[in-house]
Amino acid sequence: MGPLPVPRLARRPQPGRRTDRRGARRRAPPGPSAPRGWPDHPRGVPPRHRPEPAARRRRARPQHPLGARPRRRGPRALHRARPPPRDLLRSRSRARPANVRRKARVRRRSPWWPGGRTARGARSRHRAAQSEIRRGHQARGPPGERARARGLRGAPVRTRRARRAGAVIDRARLERRIAELSRVGGRGTSVTRLGLSAEEQSARDLVGSWLAGRGATIRRDPAGNLFARIGGEGGAVLVGSHIDSVPDGGRFDGALGVLCAVEAVETLLEARADLRRPIEVVAWADEEGARFGVGLFGSAAVFGRLAPGVAERRDRQGISVADALRALGERGDPALARRGAKDFTAYLELHIEQGPRLERAGLALGVVAAIVGIYHARVTMSGQADHAGATVMTSRADALVAASEVVLAVERIARARPDTVGTVGEIAVRPGAKNVVPGECVFSLDLRTSRDLDPYVHEVLASVERIAHARNVGASIDELARVPVTTLDPKLRDALRRGARSVGVEAPELTSGAGHDAQNPALAGVPTGMLFVRSTGGSHKPSEFASLDDAALGAQALANTLREIAG
Ligand SMILES: [Zn+2]
Repeated sequence: MGPLPVPRLARRPQPGRRTDRRGARRRAPPGPSAPRGWPDHPRGVPPRHRPEPAARRRRARPQHPLGARPRRRGPRALHRARPPPRDLLRSRSRARPANVRRKARVRRRSPWWPGGRTARGARSRHRAAQSEIRRGHQARGPPGERARARGLRGAPVRTRRARRAGAVIDRARLERRIAELSRVGGRGTSVTRLGLSAEEQSARDLVGSWLAGRGATIRRDPAGNLFARIGGEGGAVLVGSHIDSVPDGGRFDGALGVLCAVEAVETLLEARADLRRPIEVVAWADEEGARFGVGLFGSAAVFGRLAPGVAERRDRQGISVADALRALGERGDPALARRGAKDFTAYLELHIEQGPRLERAGLALGVVAAIVGIYHARVTMSGQADHAGATVMTSRADALVAASEVVLAVERIARARPDTVGTVGEIAVRPGAKNVVPGECVFSLDLRTSRDLDPYVHEVLASVERIAHARNVGASIDELARVPVTTLDPKLRDALRRGARSVGVEAPELTSGAGHDAQNPALAGVPTGMLFVRSTGGSHKPSEFASLDDAALGAQALANTLREIAG
C-alpha cells in the first residue's frame, strides 16, 4: 500500500568530473571521456557531455531557506548533505564505476537477499538495510525479519511511514506470507490442507508464530481452532477465517482471511493504535468439511452449534473426528471448545468472493449483507444387489436408478425456486461391478437458498421418500448441517463499507452463496460482519486467485474497520 519507489533518473556524467561511491566529486584527469570542447558542434559540446543544468548543480549545496549562511558542518555532515549514492541502487546501469557494480552483484547473489533480482526489490532492501545500519546493526538478514526476531518492531522504514500515514499495511509482508502459507500442503498453486490434518496443524503453527512475536497469547482449543489474543480482559473483537482447504484447492479460500487479519492486527500494533478492546485473531479448523463431511466444524464447536454425534464421524480411512483431535493432542471432544457469545463483542471475516459479481462490477471489495441458508446431508438408498443378466427388469430394486431420480428431482425443485441451488456432488455405488445390479447408493445433498431454507429442504426430502417408495428401495437421511439464512449486523456492514471507502472502494452489498464460519457467531448472537475480496479463476480449485492489489486493499480496509470498532 505504501508509495512505490519512484524510478530515479541516472545522473548525467559531467565533463572533467567523476563521482566516487559516497557521492563526493573529484577532478578526473583529462582524457577521451572528458573532452574540453567540441568546436564543430553547434552548441560547442555534444549533449551527453553538456554540463549539468544550473538547478541541478545548486542542489549539491543547499541554500538556507531564509537566505542565511548554512550552519557549519563537519566532514561527515557535508557528505550527507549531498545527494545519496544512487549509483549503488541501479542494478543494470553501465554508467557507474566497476567496483560499485561488483558490490551490487555480490549483494544480489547473497542468500540473505532472496529473490533480489529486480532493481526495485534491490532498492527497497537497500533502503531498509541502510536504516538498520544507521541504527547500529549490521545487515546480515532480511531486515524486517531480523528486527522482529530481536523483539523489535517491524522494519524501521515501514514503521516510520506507518506512523506518519496512520496505519498502513505492509504489502510486501502480506505477499511474502501468502506464498509462505500456500507452501504448507501446497504444490504450485494447488493446496491440499484438509481439516484436522497434519498440514492444517503446520499452518496453525505458522500463523501462531507470526503473532507470538507480537506478544499475543496463542491458544489452540479442543476443536483445533487457533486463537491469538492481544489485549487484556473483556469481550474481544474476533477477526479471522479458516486455514483448511478442499483437496486440490487454491491458495486464497479462507487463508486470505487469516492472512489479512494477521496483517491488519500487526499494522495496528506497529502504528501503536489506541485499542480499547482486546482483539483475537482466529484460524478456524475444518471449515470445508471435505474430510469428515461436517462443514464449519471449528466455529460450530465454539458457538455450540455442532450437530450431535459429530465426534464419531469418520473419514475415508476410517479415522474419526475424535481420533483426529487426539492425534493433535486434544481430548477428542470438540464440544469442549464452546465459548459464550459474551466473550466476543464482534466478529469480522474477510474472504474471497468465490463468485464473479465483484469481477464483473470491476470492484475489489464487497460487503456481505446475508449468507445463504445451507442444508447438508448424506442419503443412503438401499435396494437389492443381484445378477445383471439373470434379474429381469420388473423385479429389480436398483438403488442407483432411484438415486438418479432423486438427483433430477433436486435439480427440478431448485430451478423452480428463486435464489436457490441444489447439488449432488458425491455418489458411491455398492458393490460397484458392471455385472451387478446396484444394491446400495450413498450420495450427498447440498441445498442452499437465500430465501426460507426449511420449506425447500422439506420438499426435497419428501421427494426422496416418494421416489424410494415407488422404486421399492429403502432411504435413510443423515443430516450433517442445517444453517438458516444469516443476515449480518447492519452496523458492522456500515463500518465495513466505511473501511472500504477509506481505501477508495464503494463496496456494494452482496449475498454470499457459499457458507462461512461467520454464520455461527452471527446465529449465536455475536454482531458479525464480512468483507469480500474480488477473486477470479473460480474457487475450490488451484486457479482461484486474488491479486495482491485487491488483497492489500482488503487488508487495509479490514485494519481501518478494526481500528474503528476496537479503538
Ligand atoms: Zn472458505
